[in-house]
Amino acid sequence: MTSERNNPFHIAQQQFDTAAELLDLPQDIREILRVPQRELTVNFPVKLDSGATRVFTGYRVQHNLGRGPVKGGIRYHPQVDIDEVRALAMWMTWKCALVNIPYGGAKGGVVVDPAGLSPGEIERLSRRFATEISILMGPDKDIPAPDVGTTPQIMAWIMDTVSMHQGHTVNAVITGKPVQVGGSLGRNDATGRGVSLMVREWARTQGYSLDQLSVVVQGFGNVGGVAAALLHQMGCRVIGVSDATGGYARRGGLDIPAMRQHQARHPRRLLEGYDAPGVEQMTNAELLEIPCDVLVPAALENQITDLNAPRIRARVVVEGANGPTTPDADAILGDRGIVVIPDILANAGGVTVSYFEWVQGLQSFFWDEQDVNAKLERIMVSSFEQVRALAEQRRVSMRLAAYLLAVRRVADANITRGIYP
Ligand code: NAD
Repeated sequence: MTSERNNPFHIAQQQFDTAAELLDLPQDIREILRVPQRELTVNFPVKLDSGATRVFTGYRVQHNLGRGPVKGGIRYHPQVDIDEVRALAMWMTWKCALVNIPYGGAKGGVVVDPAGLSPGEIERLSRRFATEISILMGPDKDIPAPDVGTTPQIMAWIMDTVSMHQGHTVNAVITGKPVQVGGSLGRNDATGRGVSLMVREWARTQGYSLDQLSVVVQGFGNVGGVAAALLHQMGCRVIGVSDATGGYARRGGLDIPAMRQHQARHPRRLLEGYDAPGVEQMTNAELLEIPCDVLVPAALENQITDLNAPRIRARVVVEGANGPTTPDADAILGDRGIVVIPDILANAGGVTVSYFEWVQGLQSFFWDEQDVNAKLERIMVSSFEQVRALAEQRRVSMRLAAYLLAVRRVADANITRGIYP
């Protein structure tokens, strides 16, 4: 359970309030933007393999529709609750605005540990959840994507379910699909690729070459696993990684390709049981405190708090996860001269290529991977540059600079559209 202080929605509101104050936003716009526009809670039954029935709870929250249809992933995790989904939806609004793609923010989640279900049970759960939230979904309304605990296969089942109800294939209703059913080349790696580009751009501005940098990555899933692999490929020394089963470190650098192979062979795609000469095992808490140049939290929220921020020994924290750093920790890191490249910038590569997938699906015209990666790089690098320049100009953190840019764009769209009726 999260404490009130670490409640992600309260944190998201606090971050918004700080930006709104600095932007001197009108009171009515602040009131509109600090709460989600729509929230749907669903309780739905799923038949288990045993023949028993279990009722699951899920959510879909649309934070703001001012800049277009809403976009955001679906999370399957036992700790999902409405406030987490609200926060994630709000962060999606700012993220889409920051990289200037024409979407508002949304998020969904189901309270479930997918590791405890068979593939057939996950398929039935996904199809029923999709049906329950189908009143909100649509290519020009709300376009989900993967998040923690969900996969391209689950996206394919959701696309198929919506398509069955409509009587024809509705490709652009969801992104992060496998390539054979309308997914985009490059989508799977996009978030991790974006994270690696942020490390590269930060290193460039600081005058470091990539082979000088040591990196620690928390979380070895879609974001962390890919980020670690790409940073390793780019020449960084990845000295620590972890997943839900714990951390693995080696001062001289880990063999990331071997760890990815080990993970691929594990029935639940975990690092559990990985061993190699010189590899030290540790807890996730210990891993975060390893001295390194670049720390990439890429698991869940509230990993860097006021309790461990004084002991973080990185030069830069690149937020692969959403909300990994609490505001108290942010202030401590700032005072200690540790730069934070904020989530709404650092992990925006995923939604950017999801946008490309949606565009390709709507046009039934698919791009090659080089094209996707080049367009992604252009957007990530220019967004980094805008945030960095504003942070320097206003003498604020990169998080606050990112919020100032994003919240301004969302507020302008809402103000220009006016209040209906
Ligand atoms: P995932 O399910 O693919 O991977 C999550 C990883 O975190 C797994 O390795 C898991 O074992 C590990 N993990 C779980 N609990 C942990 C804990 N307590 N300590 C350490 N590791 C733990 O999920 P993902 O898609 O990689 O998402 C990770 C984060 O990135 C989330 O915050 C998500 O919202 C964010 N994100 C994801 C995307 C995307 O495209 N998938 C885009 C933007 C942001």
